[in-house]
Amino acid sequence: NQIPIATPVRTAAIVNRYFVHAKKNLGQNFLVDLDAVQGIVEAAGIEPGDQVIEIGPGIGSLTEQLLLAGGKVFAYEVDDSLPEILHNELPQKIAGEALADRFKIVLKDVLKANFAEDLAGFFDPAKPVKVVANLPYYITTPIIFNLIESDLNFTSLTLMMQKEVAERLAAEPGSKAYGPLTIAVQTQMRVDLALEVDHRSFMPAPKVDSAVVVLTPLKEDERADVGDRKHFNWVVKMCFSQRRKTLNNNLKNLLPDKGQRDQLFTDLDLDPKTRPEQLPIATFIKINEEISRLSK
Ligand code: SAM
Repeated sequence: NQIPIATPVRTAAIVNRYFVHAKKNLGQNFLVDLDAVQGIVEAAGIEPGDQVIEIGPGIGSLTEQLLLAGGKVFAYEVDDSLPEILHNELPQKIAGEALADRFKIVLKDVLKANFAEDLAGFFDPAKPVKVVANLPYYITTPIIFNLIESDLNFTSLTLMMQKEVAERLAAEPGSKAYGPLTIAVQTQMRVDLALEVDHRSFMPAPKVDSAVVVLTPLKEDERADVGDRKHFNWVVKMCFSQRRKTLNNNLKNLLPDKGQRDQLFTDLDLDPKTRPEQLPIATFIKINEEISRLSK
């Protein structure tokens, strides 16, 4: 019955025992605020028996609470000093079960994950998973793209990130935060802001505050038909490659032929001088369709 890892006292004890140095280049900021951690677990709605993928368990602040809430946790981590710490410091028995039956860690860059292969033998492939993470901030955007473009069968992604990135996920057209990440996410997912977390809840404290966002897949009939998701996301990224330039300029790489670009602007009734950030999502869907049609 130790005090939770997500407290300054216990975290300091672990840091001293194992000579842990939070590695800045790996985005290591450990949560030391039990309320914030429990807020994440609650936002994710973890129930006994849930299969949870955690990205970057660190020294286990969040992992511990996911386990205590009844989750079975599979974790991706890249810091090879952490598995030993986690195996020693996480509760050895959880509701009568051995830690090894409830927790598995692999040393692997999550951006290189092969979910079907990695999870085999630990998770029931017939059941969906929930992804929960206090993300390493230097790769937040690629991780989100990777997850939503993957074939992983998930019911929700509950992710802590910099507030600024959370704002991008929820952004409206015309705002500075609106861009490829907004569009990739909003065409597929519902975005709910669950809680904001002060930078002092971390050790070491980052410069910026954070937010926890819950992304839930939209139902088939609520979802816009974008064709091949990865291709659509790529076309949108191309449209925003120089956000301050006009749509006409940004489309030059996708449609080098001026006649075809003019055709697109006429067909979609668009001003070639508009900037990408002014266009609603529905227009990007049409641009993508038109490009596929014209470049056939
Ligand atoms: N979950 C812990 C917590 O809340 O205290 C630690 C979160 S810390 C912000 C991010 C974690 O992600 C670190 O443990 C870091 O080593 C790990 N990490 C960094 N890059 C990673 C990658 N490419 N794949 C998997 N984990 C990574």
